[in-house]
Amino acid sequence: MTVQANFHDIKTQVEQSCKKIGRNKEDITIIAVTKYVTAERAKEALDAGLCHLGENRLEGLLEKYEEIGNRATWHFIGSLQSRKVKDILPHVDYIHSLDRDSLAKEINKRADRQVSCFVQVNVSGEQSKHGLDPSQVVPFIEKLKTYPNIIVVGLMTMAPLVDNEEIVRKTFRQLKHIRDEVMDKQWAHAPCRYLSMGMSNDFHIAVEEGATHIRIGTKLVGLN
Ligand SMILES: *Cc1c(COP(=O)(O)O)cnc(C)c1O
Repeated sequence: MTVQANFHDIKTQVEQSCKKIGRNKEDITIIAVTKYVTAERAKEALDAGLCHLGENRLEGLLEKYEEIGNRATWHFIGSLQSRKVKDILPHVDYIHSLDRDSLAKEINKRADRQVSCFVQVNVSGEQSKHGLDPSQVVPFIEKLKTYPNIIVVGLMTMAPLVDNEEIVRKTFRQLKHIRDEVMDKQWAHAPCRYLSMGMSNDFHIAVEEGATHIRIGTKLVGLN
């Protein structure tokens, strides 16, 4: 399938989910996750009209950035080792995986601008997942005010890999509750308006539950 055809299908599904609950489709950003595919295929995504690309490893990011540069808005969605921060910073617009103080400290130190970050939350509590425990999110974000180069634009999560739609929905709903709690604080360093949640198999649920950024790989650009 061409990226263009996949993109069309996904937009249609996003529109349907929006209609179902009365949301505006313009409020949803579709990030094409290109981690499985070549730079060629990533360019095809750009040609199809996608302008947000997501990568989860430094190597993949650099490879694609070399070809595409700032024609795309770049999202770093993978877990991030502190020692790689200085190498990713010149190439990313958003980091979706801020989950610890040592990482925040390193981003703050290496950045020459304010970096837009999503704080990653492990809502489902699975051992295998990165992210903060829900109870830690508010105190963690409060402390980030001491880092002038970090701005918390939203929260990110990954739903558990289960077939049970209700469990997935509950995960997304819980992230939104935490987001609302942070927003209510009206912290200048943490506008926290965005919700990065939903992937190929669950983006329709995420949209219904308030996602502003959906991250789609397999169903959009494929697996190569
Ligand atoms: C790979 C990945 C995605 C996309 O997954 P698909 O199921 O292929 O759509 C989204 N978010 C993160 C953090 C990922 O690592």
